[in-house]
Amino acid sequence: MARVYNFSAGPSMLPEEVLKTAADEMLEYGATGQSVMEMSHRSKEYDAIIKQAEADLREVMNIPDNYEVLFLQGGASTQFAMVPLNLMNKNKKADFIITGQWANKAYKEAARYGNARAVASSADKTYSYIPKTTADDFDRDADYVHICMNNTIYGTKYHTLPDVGDIPLVADISSCILSEPIDVSKFAVLYAGAQKNVAPAGVTIVIIRKDFIGNAMDITPTMLNYQTHADNDSMFNTPPCYSIYIAGLVLKWIKKLGGLEKMKEINEKKAKILYDFLDNSKLFKGTVVPEDRSLMNVPFITGSDELDAKFVAEAKAAGFVNLKGHRSVGGMRASIYNAMPIEGVEKLVEFMKKFEEENA
Ligand SMILES: *Cc1c(COP(=O)(O)O)cnc(C)c1O
Repeated sequence: MARVYNFSAGPSMLPEEVLKTAADEMLEYGATGQSVMEMSHRSKEYDAIIKQAEADLREVMNIPDNYEVLFLQGGASTQFAMVPLNLMNKNKKADFIITGQWANKAYKEAARYGNARAVASSADKTYSYIPKTTADDFDRDADYVHICMNNTIYGTKYHTLPDVGDIPLVADISSCILSEPIDVSKFAVLYAGAQKNVAPAGVTIVIIRKDFIGNAMDITPTMLNYQTHADNDSMFNTPPCYSIYIAGLVLKWIKKLGGLEKMKEINEKKAKILYDFLDNSKLFKGTVVPEDRSLMNVPFITGSDELDAKFVAEAKAAGFVNLKGHRSVGGMRASIYNAMPIEGVEKLVEFMKKFEEENA
């Protein structure tokens, strides 16, 4: 067996230790005589799995008691509708900062339900920076302000939160959840699809302050009402059982490593190896302004489409896969989520050095 270094933006690598545990438990979980895949979600064994996953998420992310944790389906994309349906309920207004495709999709979807306003955008420079805003830029009557914390496609990240005054803040954290500590108390809602840093695709994590539950618009489908899921401990219908189980294993792995402070330290070290190389390379160049660089997604280019394609092909042959940039931007992108080992980034940089020498 030869495992590759997988730089995919998502679904992406999972810690090998987690995959091994899952393999060991594939045919029989504990002494149940069955796989977690086959288990009733109402069984006491599964109840223990989902409860432990929630407890570990609360512990790892330091989630205050006045927040509900929900394990839902539909991906982050469903949250683009669920957030406005549930939160755009007082003045039917929400403000958006457009930092890329995902932020834009959230904005467009919200516009179907109320008055969505784009406050700032970095579209003018292919989303290569985070636009600066002040509290005065936002509508004081807005029901919430929405941001995308880490922009998976463009490789930018909010290193400091925008000042939104007293307006509730909502963030899509799909591609940075569990990568470093986050002050949950600053947000009304945080949401993330699991397939970047938490688990295989299937589960979507929503962390919502309890007082934002219970005021959904009348038209809200039952399944898209946060109240439905909060009232039923994410068991209104069948949850994505297996994905939640793997999320639980990933959380145990993070706890063993030393939690999110330690995770951050590792991620900063990993990203620095790659950014330092890019900053000194004569061939490769990062595309994001240094102060807004993501720790998770690192886009870069050579300046020649031909050389980019050659690099991606040769890298693939050498065991570094999924380095092609998003179809909307081209170039390359290395996604270096939690599960990417430091050696993966070190070896990639070695490979890039060699490619640079050969193609100078
Ligand atoms: C991947 C991603 C999404 C889309 O997630 P789905 O689970 O496919 O709906 C949304 N936002 C961000 C920031 C992402 O990285």
